Amino acid sequence: MDQDPVPQPAGRCTAAHIEDPTPCQGPHDAVTILDGTGNAATGCEHHGARMLASIDGARIEPGSVVGAATRAFAAAQTIRPFCWYEDSPRTEPSQLSHAENARPV
Ligand SMILES: [Zn+2]
Repeated sequence: MDQDPVPQPAGRCTAAHIEDPTPCQGPHDAVTILDGTGNAATGCEHHGARMLASIDGARIEPGSVVGAATRAFAAAQTIRPFCWYEDSPRTEPSQLSHAENARPV
């Protein structure tokens, strides 16, 4: 039997990062995230937003929940990439949210 190289904890969507401890919010196929290199992951609205914020060049498409992709896209603007690693210092633009990078200095 083949082993999944990155096993996901049971009960979470495929957009949930393995090191992100937060639970899903809503259906696990609410949105689809495209990473720009041909990979796609379906996920809940919460993890879809986090994945979108974490992958440079990623896009989000609607899934089973009307309006979820729009809300997740809006939420992703204020979510820092890999926001579950909050113990690391955040000084580079690539570590800050789109909203933070757009803010006038
Ligand atoms: Zn999820």
